[in-house]
Amino acid sequence: MRNVIVTGGSRGLGLAIARRLSSTGYRVIAIARKQNPELTTAMQDAEGSNPGSFHFVPFDLAETDNISCLVRQLRKDYGVIYGLVNNAGISFEGLLALMPAHQIEQLVRINVVSPIVLTKHVIRLMMADGGGRIVNLASIAAFTGYSGLSVYGATKASMIGFSRSLAREIGRVGININSVAPGFIETDMTKTLSDDMRQQVERRSALRRLAEGKDVANAVEFLLGDNARNITGTVITVDAGSTA
Ligand code: NAD
Repeated sequence: MRNVIVTGGSRGLGLAIARRLSSTGYRVIAIARKQNPELTTAMQDAEGSNPGSFHFVPFDLAETDNISCLVRQLRKDYGVIYGLVNNAGISFEGLLALMPAHQIEQLVRINVVSPIVLTKHVIRLMMADGGGRIVNLASIAAFTGYSGLSVYGATKASMIGFSRSLAREIGRVGININSVAPGFIETDMTKTLSDDMRQQVERRSALRRLAEGKDVANAVEFLLGDNARNITGTVITVDAGSTA
């Protein structure tokens, strides 16, 4: 089984992605701060149908100094790492003029610094092991302005810029890196967003509906698969046409 690390694989989009990958032949290593009942059920389901396909490793990605140790340990415990899905992320909605500095710093740390540091350590292994695939969870907030999401949008645009340049550094060693940019999807993260924010997104949807976690999982599965071998440095939006 090919090993794929899915950060934030304990709930929401990360769990939808982890479920999909564990049921389609991958061994998922989900990383998140803590277990929850939804994750336990998903792992039990996976154990029933595809034994050994879903593992959980508790880790706080804010601790960027410990990420190199984590990656070394994962390589030792699971073997070659084929894929990395940088999904873990946080969001605070708020007007920039009123946003406390600690929230700005936390958004940048979790949404930008942690995935970049994790990617750095994982690509070192992938280079030695003959290649791999990386998928970053961006957001349509990287392309479309939403009042209240300026800092969040900045972090997501950062990951797209990061992927485009890194694709040119690591393509020659057989590593593809792409981003998936979801629109508004019902998860714990979006529960905290205001009705006004949700209406802004729905109004802009060409298909007049919201995308779902399974749609995002489809895109991630595609980018990890053999059919995407000549796709790198790009972005797939999964937003029911909000940015169309
Ligand atoms: P969520 O809040 O439901 O889940 C976030 C996950 O990240 C959880 O598993 C959480 O444990 C993990 N996480 C957060 N901080 C962490 C840390 N310090 N260490 C380890 N794990 C940590 O969010 P979601 O809606 O599933 O979003 C997943 C990704 O998709 C995020 O990057 C988000 O920005 C992006 N996204 C979501 C939407 C949406 O509408 N839900 C839209 C566009 C992009």
